[in-house]
Amino acid sequence: MRKMRAEIIAVGTELLLGQIANTNAQFLSQKLAEIGVGVYFHTVVGDNTERLLQVIRLASGRSDLVIFTGGLGPTQDDLTKETVAGHVGIGLETNSEAMERIEKFFSQRGIVMTKNNRKQALVLSGSHVFSNDFGMAPGMAIRHDSSTFVLLPGPPSEMYPMVENYVMPYLTDLLPDKQVFHSHVLRFYGIGESALEEKLLDLIEKQDNPTIAPYAKEFEVTLRITARAATVEEGETLILPVEKEILSRVGQYMYGMGENSSLHDVLVSELKKRNETIACAESCTGGAIASLITAVPGSSQVFRGGVVCYTNEVKKQLLEVPDSILQTDGAVSEKTAQLLAEHVREKLGATYGISVTGVAGPDPSEGKPVGLVYVGIAAEGMPTVVKELRLAGRRHAIVGRAAKYALFYALQMQKER
Ligand code: ATP
Ligand code: MG
Repeated sequence: MRKMRAEIIAVGTELLLGQIANTNAQFLSQKLAEIGVGVYFHTVVGDNTERLLQVIRLASGRSDLVIFTGGLGPTQDDLTKETVAGHVGIGLETNSEAMERIEKFFSQRGIVMTKNNRKQALVLSGSHVFSNDFGMAPGMAIRHDSSTFVLLPGPPSEMYPMVENYVMPYLTDLLPDKQVFHSHVLRFYGIGESALEEKLLDLIEKQDNPTIAPYAKEFEVTLRITARAATVEEGETLILPVEKEILSRVGQYMYGMGENSSLHDVLVSELKKRNETIACAESCTGGAIASLITAVPGSSQVFRGGVVCYTNEVKKQLLEVPDSILQTDGAVSEKTAQLLAEHVREKLGATYGISVTGVAGPDPSEGKPVGLVYVGIAAEGMPTVVKELRLAGRRHAIVGRAAKYALFYALQMQKER
């Protein structure tokens, strides 16, 4: 049986106007890739019956699976269900479970329910209904001719959990041969997505099972290796030799494994394991490192605190960088980075002190170019290491990358300690 062909239709005029980006399609494509379903088209269409109908006709002629997001709400412009119903030639019926949820929502809050809210409980007659645990309008799936239509709400806070909890199992069941999709997620830093891809190009080009998919997110690069197999064990057997080959080429850049293992997650968990603590002195990152670390639950066990030493006065007064160094070497220098890391570590009583000082741009500073950044890592009982980086990109990217480099180097230092 041939591979299932899918496409995604996002409905909403606000998408066409550029008020929001179509992140729902991105999310759905990632989820479908995980189960080996190929997505061939992304379409965005406004809240308009005629144009939506055109898109539906086109999609049903070429795709086995058509997933819609948006337009399931209570208002006039929410017309996805009605339009799909018109196309497949069936009516809408009230889903009693959804209706109860909606009524309960209003009675609990003591608000009078307006008539149009009942509309949210309507589903295509005979469809498979996905409950909405975080909102009112349920999702649904219906088969028509040779296509399956899946209708999902627009708000990501409602759609994501619905997909994870109900839609994925439903779709996996639809797949022609029952298989498991088993993957390993490798996390890299210090190498760009294109450089990583280049080093693995021959593997990526001949990939089939397992598939190898690199993607960049929040300045980190992730590689997902996914195997299709009858069992998880079989999948593991397919993945391991490929993973070994990948690591023999780019293993030095890998810092962790797993979907939810960003650099800060891994650093916090490693610090916890070893009963160590960290503190930071941030100039050009302006608190970005502290913000990443404290975003991890339980970071209070390992994070002593941080100083945003943006001005030379703060570098001098709070972190005791001598005026002479700031005059001769400058604030953006190896020496300043070293002293900031050492002094913040000592003053805050941490195992590690990390510092970042650099030129985030858009203009050069101290005659130093935009993107020049020094990261200092001081560790108890070890000589301090300072790394010089030449980062590309705009201000936001330079700050983001510099913060992540600091976490990456801290992890490296930890391995040596
Ligand atoms: P509601 O009950 O909120 O009206 P709905 O299912 O009718 O939900 P829409 O009205 O189309 O969905 O969109 C509601 C909100 O969901 C949008 O304002 C936007 O914030 C978000 N949203 C919708 N579609 C997308 C999308 N494709 N990508 C990202 N966010 C989206
Ligand atoms: Mg709406």
